[in-house]
Amino acid sequence: MTHDTTWEVLIIGGGLAGLTAALHLSRTGRQVLVIEKYGYPHHKVCGEYISNEVLPYLNRLGIDPFAIEAKSISKFQISTKNGHTLETELPQGGFGISRFAFDALLYEHVLKQATVAFDTVENLSFDDNVFDVRTQNGNAYKASFVLGAFGKRSNLDGLLDRPFMKQKSPWLAVKAHYNYAFPEDTVALHNFEGGYCGLSMTETNVVNACYLTTFRSFKRFKTIPDFQKEVMSENPHIKKFFTEAELVFEKPLAISQISFQSKQPVENHIFMIGDSAGLIHPLCGNGMAMAIHAAKIFSELYLDYTKTKQTDRTVLENAYRSAWQTAFSKRLRTGRRIQSMLLQPIVSRMGFKVATTFPRLVPALIQQTHGEPF
Ligand SMILES: Cc1cc2nc3c(=O)[nH]c(=O)nc-3n(C[C@H](O)[C@H](O)[C@H](O)COP(=O)(O)OP(=O)(O)OC[C@H]3O[C@@H](n4cnc5c(N)ncnc54)[C@H](O)[C@@H]3O)c2cc1C
Repeated sequence: MTHDTTWEVLIIGGGLAGLTAALHLSRTGRQVLVIEKYGYPHHKVCGEYISNEVLPYLNRLGIDPFAIEAKSISKFQISTKNGHTLETELPQGGFGISRFAFDALLYEHVLKQATVAFDTVENLSFDDNVFDVRTQNGNAYKASFVLGAFGKRSNLDGLLDRPFMKQKSPWLAVKAHYNYAFPEDTVALHNFEGGYCGLSMTETNVVNACYLTTFRSFKRFKTIPDFQKEVMSENPHIKKFFTEAELVFEKPLAISQISFQSKQPVENHIFMIGDSAGLIHPLCGNGMAMAIHAAKIFSELYLDYTKTKQTDRTVLENAYRSAWQTAFSKRLRTGRRIQSMLLQPIVSRMGFKVATTFPRLVPALIQQTHGEPF
């Protein structure tokens, strides 16, 4: 069905980035449509630890994660694959909340002031300053501006011929919730051969366990439990976890082809926010904050741009590109470096020794992958 309205802003993807931008823009009376593939709530593969840097902005948007029992997290534990452990305070702390609850919380707020359509965008084109967006259910929408908030890997990345889609990525991730006695003020990162596993408590008092590894490490084992037992459980912390923890999900969720390659923040006049613009290595625990922050950066620039009655969209595109690079390029680079260090056993062992001798180094390094409260 063709819709006659020309939307001011059409957002493809209703994850954290898309929903936050929808909230921000629609609060100022902007006419916003979000198109999201799945209904709410739903689980997503994610470590579910989010940095406190987002709290001032979320509060300004009327969102309080603690109202739905998010857990306040102030401590960080990291262990080597042999189980050597280091504990430290987190420089600015964070909170534990499931994506099941967090995305749904934002969605409830968005619904009060913007329109959300559940459908999959399959095609889009840009002509004469207007986007034409087509969906799986046969709908056609027009919009003046489009935000790409479709996450780390979408059918649209293929459609846009984005370079990262041409290269296979070795990374896969698994996540599930478990009943397990775990301190609610702590996020743990336990290393194992070829990957790492994050543990933290969520609002329903279950522990989220999420790990990232390579297909190469995984393929020798037929099942997820076999891999967890044979490879991951070399680390005694992980062994204890999988021996004692009780799986809450019917089965773990798994995703593959996770790419950390650079992407462009603006492509084909589409403003990319969140993982569509770039994914930081999960061990940094900062992708969600970056997604929310990118939504803020775009929304503020867009509101300024429309106030000045500019008509040259390249002004906004250049401003967003530059603001995005300033906010995130450095931490993406640092994330890449830390991940490659952590996965090289010798370098990782040496790094661990240095960190044990100078424990303040760890919070300083964490801060490098995070931003200031915004
Ligand atoms: C293993 C792993 C662990 C992580 N752990 C953490 C962590 O502990 N802390 C942290 O801060 N970050 C973490 N991250 C990163 C974090 O999950 C992401 O940065 C965050 O989800 C980005 O939000 P987003 O809105 O950009 O994307 P998403 O939340 O993925 O949302 C994208 C949305 O777009 C929709 N969509 C896609 N294509 C279409 C289409 N064609 N039409 C309509 N809708 C579409 C999808 O259904 C989805 O809902 C982790 C990432 C991974 C891979």
